[in-house]
Parts: sequence; structure tokens; C-alpha cells
Amino acid sequence: MTAQLIDGNGLSRQLRTEVAQRAAALKARGTTPGLAVVLVGDNPASQVYVRNKVKACEDSGLHSVLEKYDATLTEAALLARVEALNEDPAIHGILVQLPLPAHIDAQKVIEAISPAKDVDGFHIASAGALMTGMPGFWPCTPYGCMKMLESIGYDLRGKHAVVIGRSNIVGKPMALMLLQKNATVTICHSATQDLKAHTLQADVIVAAVGKRNVLTADMVKPGAVVLDVGMNRNEEGKLCGDVDFDGVKEVAGYITPVPGGVGPMTITMLLVNTLEAAERAAGS
Ligand code: NAP
Repeated sequence: MTAQLIDGNGLSRQLRTEVAQRAAALKARGTTPGLAVVLVGDNPASQVYVRNKVKACEDSGLHSVLEKYDATLTEAALLARVEALNEDPAIHGILVQLPLPAHIDAQKVIEAISPAKDVDGFHIASAGALMTGMPGFWPCTPYGCMKMLESIGYDLRGKHAVVIGRSNIVGKPMALMLLQKNATVTICHSATQDLKAHTLQADVIVAAVGKRNVLTADMVKPGAVVLDVGMNRNEEGKLCGDVDFDGVKEVAGYITPVPGGVGPMTITMLLVNTLEAAERAAGS
């Protein structure tokens, strides 16, 4: 069996077209959705991420502001900037790129962002909203995974989903979103004994670990849906996921590639959240 690919690039294009249309409609009513991206320091990967986010905004007709600061910026100065952005009516979403320099308490900075502008979905109020099924912003990467399942018309009710990884930004919110759609959810992590015994039971597997080949073909039930969140480099320096793609695609029913899978969906859901924040602010 060869799995069907879930194409994150194609789905992103489709969703970004919808974002652009909704953004244009909102603009016509006097509100241009605006995202502020704050970068502290010169982490090369972060620089690429923020560039991509700003470009994605521009391509979809969203207003974006990139604020770059030296790594020596104090925590107090960063908190003051976040506070100013909270008050800025032209800004509907605030994203502080992580990681921050070691002298800045990242959690404190995230908690300083107004929940109404928390388009990354990392604020404790956003986490609480997701936990209790209340309206709020969902973290972009697991939200993107849910959109991928939706795109193949997958009904999660009564299905067994196994999430590998329990980080606050991917694994835990992923598990809650799957639960909200009536899946039975198992969360695995570094202390899980016999990961394979769990994954072999799964109808849906989300791998969010950050280690190559965490999921191999012998660990997958035939026909399962496999979403690969991982971003790693192989020996040749090429981007790859957590899943042994070549092996698993022969067993799974659906699979996401790396690159071109979950990655582009993450930025797309940031645009969706920013648009949503602007629509809420405009009362529409
Ligand atoms: P993280 O905070 O490092 O969490 C990794 C999780 O994997 C932890 O919960 C850890 O367990 C678990 N784990 C480690 N080794 C394991 C093993 N052998 N078996 C089972 N579980 C294991 O990472 P993250 O931020 O969630 O990111 C995960 C991966 O996704 C990374 O490769 C990251 O680059 C990628 N990512 C991609 C996107 C995207 O847009 N595509 C977005 C975000 C992240 P413990 O909790 O017990 O330590």
C-alpha cells in the first residue's frame, strides 16, 4: 500500500487565498489586519522564520511590522514594547519569536501579551480556553494539523489518536484538539515504555519529538493517518521529519511529507489567527 500525501503547500495556498479574500473584505470596512513580529537577538533560524512570517502577511494583504532588537535588550524594555503593541489599534496580533535570550523570562513576556492579540496561542489564557473548549487562539502548529485532517474529510469521532511529544506548543494542545473532536487520545513522551505498542493501536499518529526515525513502518497500523511535525536535518543536511517517510508511506493510509507538510501550515494558521483577531476587534 502507498499512502496518499497530505500536501501542506497546496492546502496552505488554498487557505491563504481565503485569508486574502477575508482580509480584503475587512479592509474595505476600514480595518487592515495587522501583525507585529518581535525578534530579539540574531538567532539565524529565527531570522528566517520571522522573514517568512512577514512575507506571508504581505502576500495575503495583511499589514505587518517587524521589530528587531539587539540581544542585549532588557526584559523590562521588551515588556514595555509588548505593552505598547497591546495598546496599538493597528496591531491585532503580537508574536514574540522564541527562543529569547537567556536573561529574558520568555513565559513572563508571553503572559504580557493581551490574550486578544495572542495569535501564537501560547498565553496561559489561550491554553485555558483550549482546555475548556472556550473561544481563544489555538497554537498554530497543532491547529494546522487539525486543518490537514479536515482537508481529507477525516472524522475523528471514536478513533484512537496517539500523539508523540507533550510540549506546550505542539504535543499537549494537539492532544486537546483531537480530544475536542471526540478521538480517544494517548500522549506518549520520553518516559513512555514500548512506544510501538501504543502507535500500533493508532488510527492517527502525530509525531512531534524532534528526532529522526522515531516512527518506523513496523510501528504503524496499515491505513493509519500519519502527521509528521518534526523538523530535523539528515546526514546531508537536508530537512526531514520524525517519521521514516520512505518506510511508513508503504503502510500508512495518509502521510504528511517534510518539507511541504505541517511546516507551511504553521505560518498559514498564524495568518488565520491574525485575521480572526482583527475580525473580532472590528466586531465582525
Ligand atoms: P520539545 O519541546 O523538545 O518536545 C519534544 C517532546 O518529545 C517532549 O515531550 C519529549 O518528551 C518527547 N520525546 C523525546 N524523545 C522521545 C522519544 N524517544 N519517544 C517519545 N517521545 C519523546 O519539541 P517541540 O517544540 O514540541 O517540537 C517537536 C518537533 O517539532 C521539533 O522537531 C520541532 O522543530 C518541530 N516543530 C515543527 C513545527 C512546524 O511548523 N513544522 C513547529 C513547532 C515544532 P519529554 O516531555 O518527556 O521530554
